[in-house]
Amino acid sequence: MRAQPTASHFIDGQYVEDTAGAPIECVYAATGEVIARLHEATPALVDRALASAARAQKEWAALRPVERARVLHKAAEIIRSRNRELSELETLDTGKPLQETLVADASSGADALEYFAGFAPTVTGQTVPVGGGDFVYTIREALGVCVGIGAWNYPTQIACWKAAPALAFGNAMVFKPSEVTPLCALKVAEIFIEAGAPAGLFNVVQGRGAVGASLVTDPRVAKVSLTGSVPTGRKVYAAAAEGIRHVTMELGGKSPLVVFDDASLEDAIGAAMLGNFYSTGQICSNGTRVFVQKGLKERFLARLKERAEAIVIGEPLDEATQMGPMVTEDQLSKVLSYIEKGKAEGARLITGGARLDRAGNYLQPTVFADVTDDMVIAREEIFGPVMAILDFDTEEEVIARANGTDFGLAAGVFTADMARGHRVAAAFEAGTCWINAYNLTPVEAPFGGSKLSGVGRENGHAALEHYTQIKSVYVGMNPVDAPY
Ligand code: NDP
Repeated sequence: MRAQPTASHFIDGQYVEDTAGAPIECVYAATGEVIARLHEATPALVDRALASAARAQKEWAALRPVERARVLHKAAEIIRSRNRELSELETLDTGKPLQETLVADASSGADALEYFAGFAPTVTGQTVPVGGGDFVYTIREALGVCVGIGAWNYPTQIACWKAAPALAFGNAMVFKPSEVTPLCALKVAEIFIEAGAPAGLFNVVQGRGAVGASLVTDPRVAKVSLTGSVPTGRKVYAAAAEGIRHVTMELGGKSPLVVFDDASLEDAIGAAMLGNFYSTGQICSNGTRVFVQKGLKERFLARLKERAEAIVIGEPLDEATQMGPMVTEDQLSKVLSYIEKGKAEGARLITGGARLDRAGNYLQPTVFADVTDDMVIAREEIFGPVMAILDFDTEEEVIARANGTDFGLAAGVFTADMARGHRVAAAFEAGTCWINAYNLTPVEAPFGGSKLSGVGRENGHAALEHYTQIKSVYVGMNPVDAPY
């Protein structure tokens, strides 16, 4: 097996095993084969991870930002030099095709490390004159020990997107991957040590929700950053509130992608496909409600069907494969049940809709047309390769319908009229929007959701607000004027 981690957890600078924890089997989604057997972290291991993070954080925060940056740059360099090996592991962990993981996962993790390594040394405070020669200066301080909890769709990227800003600004992290994809974050932890990070700065503990919950409420923890579903977000947010902890919540979505009649047909279809089928549809910001203006509808559907049916589905480790299986059998069943609901509610199946007759959790890329706003497939996050196409007539109408959801993660618009593009983007109730593009998330740009899709932002300058706090220091330059 390719460069597997050697134990379940990575704590205080080394791999750690404790078979007393409940077993976790890591299954390769393309074959059903168990590729690794791990164990959940026991309370004693969780305690060790937090204690080592608390210790390492003090030492790390005392370094000059350029010294911290040097370690992150080195980690990025190691990640890039091992891109193939890490991509193969990502593929085994998730079932996503190597064609994707070679360009989208480890490399985006390295981007985040490079970006925040460059950013950290530029962070300064302010000097604020307050009259009479007195002044206040501000210091951006690290929060302390941060907890990262990840979803299963992007295990390397999620670990890096959380670790990069946290570590760059002087924090330590204990990260819990999804139990479904436990392997990749361990490699990230191993690489930080190789790059010169102090032992304990970035720890990985495995486990299901209960392990995550035990991290969130520990008094040593200053911040929790979760990537997951809205129901989990509600629980974690509430648990973090008990200790008034900082939170970042990157949650689910049901994002609109609006295509006007004047849009480039091929570009809009390409974006709709990327925004529904990339990573077998398992992407939080996917544009799963595709609103197509009526004048373009039939041409859009005909060409989309043609392109969707040409997608190469197969063994993810084969670089010619464009689409792999769903991450688990459970996720496949959940998506199939949504497809049944779509049919039962009267949506028109344009293509796909069935499981592939082969081993592994394979599903055809699926497109429904004539979807209406009230259908379950237009309201609930499916998290699979299922595109819902809805018709519309006017800009005003489509904006209201696009915003008619409790989610607010992302939104996109395709049009040749740039004034309209900006107008629609301004009207979207979503944290991350695209005009004539979809699902591009460079590390330089803040990413995150509004409404039920989350609070806080990852990436960009915005991340500074979420991994530091401001201390104000008032400097008295005058005699103290006390009235008594
Ligand atoms: P879940 O919400 O089921 O799980 C997310 C993580 O939280 C997992 O590691 C899970 O552990 C853990 N967890 C579960 N319960 C608790 C708890 N009570 N306390 C602490 N941690 C807990 O999400 P999925 O893993 O199924 O991922 C899919 C979801 O993630 C989708 O809704 C998707 O939209 C969202 N997502 C959001 C992104 C964003 O940036 N906005 C990006 C990617 C995905 P375990 O799995 O081991 O039970």
